Amino acid sequence: EISQMHAQYIAQSWSKSGGAARAIERGEGVYLYDYDGNKITDMSSLLVCANLGHSLPEIVNAIKAQADKLCFAAPCYATEAKSTLAKKIVDIAGADHFQRVLFTNAGADANENAIKIARNFTGRTKIFNRYRSYHGATLGASNASGDWRRYAAEIGGANGFVHFMNPQMYRDGYTKGVDDAEVTKKYLDALDLQLRYEGPGNVAAILMESIVGANGVILPPDGYMEGVRALCDKYGILLICDEVMAGFYRTGKMFAFMNFDMKPDIITFAKGVTCGYVQLGGCIVSKKVAEYFEENVLQCGLTYSGHTLACAAGVAAMKYYKEHDIEGHVAEMHEIVAPFMDEMVKKHKCIGEARCIGLFGALEVVKNKETREPMQEYGVPGPVMPWIFAELKKRGFATFGRENFIEICPPLIITKEELEEYLPILDEVLTMVDEKFCD
Ligand code: PLP
Repeated sequence: EISQMHAQYIAQSWSKSGGAARAIERGEGVYLYDYDGNKITDMSSLLVCANLGHSLPEIVNAIKAQADKLCFAAPCYATEAKSTLAKKIVDIAGADHFQRVLFTNAGADANENAIKIARNFTGRTKIFNRYRSYHGATLGASNASGDWRRYAAEIGGANGFVHFMNPQMYRDGYTKGVDDAEVTKKYLDALDLQLRYEGPGNVAAILMESIVGANGVILPPDGYMEGVRALCDKYGILLICDEVMAGFYRTGKMFAFMNFDMKPDIITFAKGVTCGYVQLGGCIVSKKVAEYFEENVLQCGLTYSGHTLACAAGVAAMKYYKEHDIEGHVAEMHEIVAPFMDEMVKKHKCIGEARCIGLFGALEVVKNKETREPMQEYGVPGPVMPWIFAELKKRGFATFGRENFIEICPPLIITKEELEEYLPILDEVLTMVDEKFCD
């Protein structure tokens, strides 16, 4: 009955409406349960947001306690939850460089507001973004995004968005760990030239994911992120790092930019800040940007900015990350997941490359390993990847991906035993893919 009502009344995102959706009753740890009691292992943390798994008592109880006192106060009021969370986030991001947080409802509007802040701060219009990226579904964030999900928003559009190519070493025929210096130079030279063609004095910001997530966990070549930072400094452009998916220990560090020797001017975040228990996002701005808005009005505002329940969930999540040493746990679990993924490359004809940082992983699915021909070409829908996800799901292994990659991003609290129980399911399905679909 629930699924039927869903099909009838829910406008389904990124899909045609009216299709079947499994009804979920409850969640616990890395598991979701349907109404028949069937267990599904959540190997993608839903949309890479449930970093601390489902129904964690520490977060649930914090939300309940806050609800008993006050569910919501407008942005003009100070609340314990909002002030505490902002301080904790700035401290972990690095209080020597960052200063203030603008809270938003989720990831898209975090990017939307970061774009407005950058334009206000610089007095410039253009925003540079990468083709292999996703920044959200509101108008500006959609136009900033690189993947096909921006096309609908481009009808009538938003102005000033310029896209540039990001390095995808495997797809470009290179090998990470071998060709980094060459690829970094090639892509930074091209970006520098493109900035000059567009007029660097017109460019407000480069907005990019610190590590590309929903387009397949694309790891940048060594030196690339530092090089982009240097270009921003050269031309007075702000660097906005979108940490909506990669933030909050997903890559093993609090923020993914911390894997590199650089700092952005603005960080956008969402997902892992509350693990989705109540939706929340935000922009963390550097001291330099924060000081500007001590003299100038911040022309941004949302009714629910700093929502009290959401911030209470966020404070509890931050406490849990720290007290349970999630950073250390991710490092340990990485030592199980990454070798398993490397093994999949060796063992299966259909896996061309494994990319994994922390518990942020993707397997590149190919039709032909020698030629690196992808299982499905970009932008050309085909049956194989949906077949893979359906076969995994049948076996209780839920994840997502797109034209030629499978994401492996389990909740960061997953245990060694759980990984050892569920990763073999992937191995089993990949054996079927080798036989059925590879050259
Ligand atoms: N930025 C990145 C990197 C994302 O992965 C997403 C969503 O997946 C967003 C922004 C948009 O976040 P939201 O869906 O919360 O608006």
